[in-house]
Amino acid sequence: MLTFAWPHALPLLAGLMGLMVGSFLNVVIHRLPLMMEQQWVKECAEFAGHSADLSAEPNAESESGQVLSLSQPRSRCPHCGHPIAWHENIPVVSYLFLRGRCSACGVGISVRYPLVELVMAGLFYFCVSRWGGTPTAVVWCGFSAAVVTLAMIDWDTTLLPDDITLPLVWSGLIVAALQWNPGVSLSDVLWGAVGGYLSLWGVYWAFKLATGKEGMGFGDFKLFAALGAWFGWAALVPIILMASVLGAVVGMGLKWSSKLREGGYVPFGPFLAIAGLTALFFGPQAILRWTGLAI
Ligand SMILES: [Zn+2]
Repeated sequence: MLTFAWPHALPLLAGLMGLMVGSFLNVVIHRLPLMMEQQWVKECAEFAGHSADLSAEPNAESESGQVLSLSQPRSRCPHCGHPIAWHENIPVVSYLFLRGRCSACGVGISVRYPLVELVMAGLFYFCVSRWGGTPTAVVWCGFSAAVVTLAMIDWDTTLLPDDITLPLVWSGLIVAALQWNPGVSLSDVLWGAVGGYLSLWGVYWAFKLATGKEGMGFGDFKLFAALGAWFGWAALVPIILMASVLGAVVGMGLKWSSKLREGGYVPFGPFLAIAGLTALFFGPQAILRWTGLAI
């Protein structure tokens, strides 16, 4: 276990790392759905027997016809295409220095970018101050990064990429097998993953048979399975309770303020993610206590 003379040094260092990870996650949140779309276009075109014309994609990054990845091309202002210099890319600091505007065209930069960075800094600080310089702290930092990314992508696109949900399920099982996740056994998390997936799968089919509509996506089952794989089966009920209440309140709020997107679909992933992070902070049983279901 890593220790420093000053007890806050390591958590603060982790917080700084969280800022940088948050900055990277902003790229992932923006690009992963676009990369998936490029992949689909390519596969559909190949299936139809002709090569993909990626330059037909409407988004700014692929105007050149270049295949998008997490590292290429360099980040640009989505409005004017101004390439973002390293000194304009320092987490939070650059946003404040630029006063939230692009240095070339002056168009506002979403406050989401520094917010994601600050949230990641807070989560990393929390994990390391709670578990110190241990593998447990590192794996929970990884969990937090994955969950925040999934929440933002789902909110933007109503997609929960398998590229993140499935490794999150596996890693939860592996972390428990390595005994890096105190308080849960391998069988707790195994049944957590199974129960998480099957319960929402059941709700999905019950809803579909009763109403003919699809109430949620398969990504939601996988994310709930992942939460089960990290917190154990006993956390499933508190997490789904909190996510459902939050989802219903926010859904009604959006409906009331007529900000609901086309089709009236509210993604469920962000609420599962918030419930998961709440379980990380306070423990799943605390959620039950708040609702009066447990002492
Ligand atoms: Zn610009």
